[in-house]
This record gives sequence, C-alpha cells and structure tokens, in this order.
Amino acid sequence: MFNKLNDLVNYYHENKLSHAYLIETNNINNCFSDLRVVVQRIFCPNTYKENCNECNICNLINQNYLPSLKIIEPDGSSIKKEQILELKRAFSSVPIYTKNNIYIIKNAEKMTESSANTMLKFLEEPEDNLLGFFITNNINNVINTVKSRCEIIKLYYDDNDLNFKTLNSEKYINYFNIVSNYIYKLEIEKKNLIMYNKSELLNNFSEREDYKILFKIMLLIYEEALNYTLGLKNNISSYDQFNYLTKFDSKMLIKRIKLITQLLDDINYNVNLELLLDKFVIELSEVI
Ligand SMILES: [Zn+2]
Repeated sequence: MFNKLNDLVNYYHENKLSHAYLIETNNINNCFSDLRVVVQRIFCPNTYKENCNECNICNLINQNYLPSLKIIEPDGSSIKKEQILELKRAFSSVPIYTKNNIYIIKNAEKMTESSANTMLKFLEEPEDNLLGFFITNNINNVINTVKSRCEIIKLYYDDNDLNFKTLNSEKYINYFNIVSNYIYKLEIEKKNLIMYNKSELLNNFSEREDYKILFKIMLLIYEEALNYTLGLKNNISSYDQFNYLTKFDSKMLIKRIKLITQLLDDINYNVNLELLLDKFVIELSEVI
C-alpha cells in the first residue's frame, strides 16, 4: 500500500493530522483496508512490517477487536442515530491500548440528518485523542454537516489486475519494457526525457488508459524499491535490473513516488497529455 493515505502516518507523527477526514474513493473496501493499515502503522509497537501479526495491537485491529477502533457501517439502508450514540458511549472513556480513539464510518453518504447532528460535537469540539475517517463513494451525497467539517481526500484505485507480480506478464510486457527504459534513462543516463516523452510515449500510445498503465508500472517499481529501502522487503523480487534504485534513500524515492502519484491523478482529469508529461519530467529533474 502506497497512496495518499500513507501520508497520514507521517502527519500523525508530525502532529499535523486533522481530527476528521472525508475520503472519496471508487473502492470503499480497498480504501477501508488501506486505512486499517494506516492505523496499524501508526500504533504498531514494533516497526510495522507488512501484515504484522506479531503484535497484539495489529492482531486486534485485524480482527476488529481493538476497543479504541470503532467501525460503523450502514445498518440496512442508512447509518442511524443509535449507531452514533453507541459510538459516543464507547468513546466516553479514555482510549485503551492506543493513544487515540479512532472511528471509521463506511458509506458516509448514508448518514441521516439526525445521525450527522448527533456526530456534531465529535466534529466541532473533538477531544484531543479523537480521530475520525468517513469513507464515501460520492462526496456530493454526504450531508453538509459532515462534509464541511472534514478535511477531504480523494483516492481512486485502478480496477485492473496490475501489481508487482504481474507487471511483466505478457499483457503488460510492452509497457514494462518502455517504463524500464524510461527509468534507466532518467536515473542512470540522466537523459532529457522531454524528447523521450515524444519519441517513445506520445508516438506509441494514444489512450489515457495506456498512460495509466505505464505510470502505474513505474509507481509499482519505485514502491518496491522503497519497501526494500525501508526494510519491508528483503529484495526487489525477480527484478534485478532495478537494483540501482535501492541505492537511493527513502526520502528520494518518496519524492519520485509523490510525483508519479500526482501524475496518475492528473491523467484522470487533464486533457493535454503532452503538457502533463513534460511538466512531470521537469519536476522529476528537480528532485533527481
Ligand atoms: Zn504490529
């Protein structure tokens, strides 16, 4: 998992976290499990490793038994006032095991007016140790009482089967080779990629989807290098050709990952791909 939610871990440690976030996503379940990892990464008493099942806290979180983490889902067609009242009762005492009481509300667009009003005190005069997340598939349907009091995050997941294990499968091999070349030219040869954008990307790919795949592959490669650098993985699995990336420190890798993530976001909205790609390589060259 490396997406915008990952920043929350850093914000927590820098004391910059808001008390409530509203996350719009196209995949509520993915978002929920990523959010659960965020909570684990914040509170794991060990240094959180992928799928930590060594510590009590991570185990309790995984089984939904951590008393200071409450998850609310619609009861039938809506999230009811009684559910929020129960949450308030549960959080009327200081948190156990973790420094914060945390609630996650799935399908926040299903909150009724009375459940949102019951929530108000949580949102307007939050206790220091309270942390809330609302997840929705459409921010426009979330009642304003909630929306206006949260910091908003938009998080979209790709629906394809692209992941680090499948990225050089037959389906993606062509994209993979181009990206592999792109990274090499960028990091090792330090070439001017504006030319390369034209000759290798824009001349060969016309669809927005193509660019999403290309840069998703790039993201996966840098994420893997980051996981290695952070000690979360022992090697860059079967991709020896990227070993040179492991010489970078995590800060340098994160800078690149942020730019790629931003580009992937922009591809969804921005019309002019050429401009977008040029902006991307200019920004990249500033962090390299
Ligand atoms: Zn743990």
